[in-house]
Amino acid sequence: MTWSFPIGRLFGSELRVHATFLLLLAWIATSAWVAGGPEAALVNTGLVVAIFACVVAHEFGHALMARRFGIVTPDITLLPIGGMARLERMPEDPGQEVLVALAGPAVNVVIWLVLTLALGATTRLDALVALDDPAAGFLGRVASINLFLAAFNLIPAFPMDGGRVLRALLSIRLGRVRATRSAATAGQVVSFLFAFVGLTSGNLILVLIAIFIFMAAAAETSDVALRDRARGAFARDVMITTFETLAPDDTLDTAANAVVRTTQAEFPVKDPQGHVAGLLTRQAIIAGIERDGRMTPVARAMTTGIPEVGLRDPVDAVLGHLGDGAVPAVAVVDGNGAFIGYVTRENIGEWMALSVPARD
Ligand SMILES: [Zn+2]
Repeated sequence: MTWSFPIGRLFGSELRVHATFLLLLAWIATSAWVAGGPEAALVNTGLVVAIFACVVAHEFGHALMARRFGIVTPDITLLPIGGMARLERMPEDPGQEVLVALAGPAVNVVIWLVLTLALGATTRLDALVALDDPAAGFLGRVASINLFLAAFNLIPAFPMDGGRVLRALLSIRLGRVRATRSAATAGQVVSFLFAFVGLTSGNLILVLIAIFIFMAAAAETSDVALRDRARGAFARDVMITTFETLAPDDTLDTAANAVVRTTQAEFPVKDPQGHVAGLLTRQAIIAGIERDGRMTPVARAMTTGIPEVGLRDPVDAVLGHLGDGAVPAVAVVDGNGAFIGYVTRENIGEWMALSVPARD
């Protein structure tokens, strides 16, 4: 996800923070300072750390439940609406998807119960709208926040957890693509409501959340539609087979000539043994020339660690590699590991548009 920054690893997942989550934290700290001076700002910084911990716990609820079904969670991004665990894939079994979706809010309910029953915290509903109000008491506010996180995430609209539950239940009757579309439409209706309330009440955070929900709902719809259409297709169906390659010790000058001579936006770099050593994009060529000059070897500017798939690997697996945007392409290799072609997101898109009849 763009606009997010890595901050560490836990249980094998990378923790990332989205810029809008930092905005939320900044808003809480600043408004406390304005209302109660530096001391209130300090107390609320502690509160911020507590919120942070609860959101992380919520996300690990999803991640650890998904692990029970054999699904890895490469990273977790913290957002104002409670964060997002990026599972390697979503369970396609509706029952499993419901359990994974509910595991997050369940963690917040457990934290709320512990704070309320064991530590005597009192939840005040007005504390939910005034998180910066020190009168609510520290534990009381943490308890309120957990109740809020659970309730907010259970709103039955994509991309909230409740939206996933809704999608899973609808998919039993409608199929996954139409179910996702319905849950995403619900998400976009909710985002308009939030934007309206946010604009009329002057709550900028609510407007930001609305924008995020709207974009996330749209992205999920297109991703699910793409994966559905890719079903039954293999890497060999979508790969690029006519292309020029570069050698690791070719210069960026040679690469620049290749950019002009061809229509390729990326060049596979093949080592003498015929294996793929890396991939050089047009942008990397331009940036490399600006930084190191035209005589720099290609090997210094290329992206390494290009994932490899076999000819008969499903397109879904290819999309999985391309999904996080970390690599520009996936290499296709034959049975001996020799490089024979590659796949980009763009050419999967072209293949979709040309080879699959349009349907709803
Ligand atoms: Zn969640």
